[in-house]
Amino acid sequence: MITVDHLTKLYDDFVAVDDISFEIKKGEIVGLLGPNGAGKTTTMRILTGFLPASSGQVTINSHDVFEDPIRVKASIGYLPESAPLYQDMKVEEYLEFIADLRGLNRSQKRNRIREVVDQTGLTPRLRQEIGHLSKGYRQRVGLAQALLHNPEVLILDEPTSGLDPNQIVEIRSLIKKIGKEKTVILSTHILSEAEATCDRVLIINKGRIVASGTPEELRAHHKDKALVRVKIEGDGKGLIKKLEALDDVILVMKLDTAIEKGYSVFEIETDSNKDLRRQISQTLVNGGFALVEINREGKTLEDVFTEFTA
Ligand code: ATP
Repeated sequence: MITVDHLTKLYDDFVAVDDISFEIKKGEIVGLLGPNGAGKTTTMRILTGFLPASSGQVTINSHDVFEDPIRVKASIGYLPESAPLYQDMKVEEYLEFIADLRGLNRSQKRNRIREVVDQTGLTPRLRQEIGHLSKGYRQRVGLAQALLHNPEVLILDEPTSGLDPNQIVEIRSLIKKIGKEKTVILSTHILSEAEATCDRVLIINKGRIVASGTPEELRAHHKDKALVRVKIEGDGKGLIKKLEALDDVILVMKLDTAIEKGYSVFEIETDSNKDLRRQISQTLVNGGFALVEINREGKTLEDVFTEFTA
């Protein structure tokens, strides 16, 4: 079990992690989800004892990370963002080397290598040089080294970063399998990853935890709002004001990212109990705007994430 209590990390006077607290229980997979620079890697490095905190306390299985670092490190498997692999070593040699570093005796070494290689699907690659493996297989080697000493806690920093879609699916299902027996915290800036892999999500932004819960809870929390998306011809000048004047419209935004030549897309956040498509269409027609598409949806987790981290 991981307990983080009022953890803060300053780099000079810049607050990278700002007074965060959370708990992760055995058998849980928790995702630390946030945009670039949110403080995910800093938090994970502190959890693993690689970086000192400025203040606050972290305990792993009741042992203080700062006061009892050796015992804590023995119970953690860590996969950093770029796994520290020796490219010219063969997979088997590398795992033997890590097993020696972890202090496993000969029979433990043989058994554990066999088990983790089996678990991570590395058996056919054992005699291959790490530098000759695909990124997906290198990531498996990274996971295998993190699992070798059979730690109770796994800390995985962006475990699927740089992988192709097939490799992502494989690594995610591997993490889910491993997560049944261990406590897992993983960082990601990809929402679908958090949703597909994690039991619970902590949304982190600018060093603070701004929301937490299961993906369903996070979505439900925001179900009082619905979104109507309209696509019109032209740039829609003056439209935001007209839409904002409607009853039960909370917010209107023009999407810069969705611009297709000659069209504009607007998102209108409304009270979820009201379907405002009729009033919105009428406003468009009255204002002389040519409506191309209109649709309404409940909040997605992506919307929740954007709302918390924008
Ligand atoms: P990413 O997804 O981009 O890796 P992150 O959420 O992991 O982002 P961190 O790497 O923890 O974020 O960084 C948090 C903030 O702290 C960033 O603004 C970063 O620039 C800053 N930072 C990180 N390491 C240092 C350092 N050693 N010295 C100064 N500032 C740092």
